[in-house]
Amino acid sequence: MKFCDIIKNEKNIQIIKGMIKSGKLPGAFIFEGAPGSGKSSMADILAMAAVCQDYAYKSEYGEPCGVCEACRKAGAKIHPDIITAESESDSALSFHIDKVREIIDGLYLSPNESDKKIYIIKNMQNMTPQGQNALLKSIEEPPHFVIFIITVNSCDLILETVKSRAVRFTMDYISETEIRNYIEKNNPGFGDNEIAYAAKFANGSIGAALDMLQNRSASQSGSSYGDLIYGILSENPDKLSLYQNMASKGFERLNKTELLNFYSALQNAVRDILIAKIFTRDLDNPGNVPFLYFNNYNKSGGKDTEKINKLLNLYSAKKIIDLSGKIHKFKSDLDYNINARLNLISFLSDI
Ligand SMILES: [Zn+2]
Repeated sequence: MKFCDIIKNEKNIQIIKGMIKSGKLPGAFIFEGAPGSGKSSMADILAMAAVCQDYAYKSEYGEPCGVCEACRKAGAKIHPDIITAESESDSALSFHIDKVREIIDGLYLSPNESDKKIYIIKNMQNMTPQGQNALLKSIEEPPHFVIFIITVNSCDLILETVKSRAVRFTMDYISETEIRNYIEKNNPGFGDNEIAYAAKFANGSIGAALDMLQNRSASQSGSSYGDLIYGILSENPDKLSLYQNMASKGFERLNKTELLNFYSALQNAVRDILIAKIFTRDLDNPGNVPFLYFNNYNKSGGKDTEKINKLLNLYSAKKIIDLSGKIHKFKSDLDYNINARLNLISFLSDI
């Protein structure tokens, strides 16, 4: 992967390329942006550039050469001088101080193969304040061969003192059309309608759009959340049994990523009801109706046909929009470090 594989962010890339060309990289970088905005790829390319052995290439192009031994190891994620630290799960405060201590303990050991040692710290929003404080001193005065590359959803979620020690880059917002073009080019195999709708609901994140498309593939193969989502939408079960039902399906290990996937699938299902309302006349010719979740709908009665028909009777457009707003709210609360289990419980009691 090279910088030309990152979409937009021309200005950010121009600045970073300038630093690589000059051979002078600061001791700490922060890449801030929504999940799926490309910050992790930026961190990986920058780390590769820092260890790349082809100095002539770097000083001319400001990119890693991509072919030297160091670049190949970095690409395969086996370079001994690129150390990636991230939280156990995607839930708040799951990035423990023990991991930070490991970093600090190894900090002064010289690099093995390169003349730089890179610490990529992913999703710093999950790091406890104690962890951030412990790391602060290292970021303030790192050994001359160390570079920290931090990724975070939003800089509001990290300590001011950490922010002030690093060079910050905010990832560009990516428009619906840009997401569509990117997926058509790089992830062939999805239909035009599917891509268009995923791009529309992705909120500027390629990662989220790809998740939606993959969720759709998963629900097509019958896995995903199966009848659980239909159960939530079609009945008004008592919340305790609903929660127990979810727990029995593995939700007891609930983490943020899992819950985000669940909300995305639920959003797709709710969106399908709205689409079914809008395209009522087209339902006789379901090929024209771009369902994301209930995609086994057809004239002769696929397994989702009855479900959609029942949901159409249960939901007014207003009710759909209200529910959609609630899912959106609980989904974004997750970004602000709210415990996943509590988030789900309050969501269930609110719908
Ligand atoms: Zn190289």
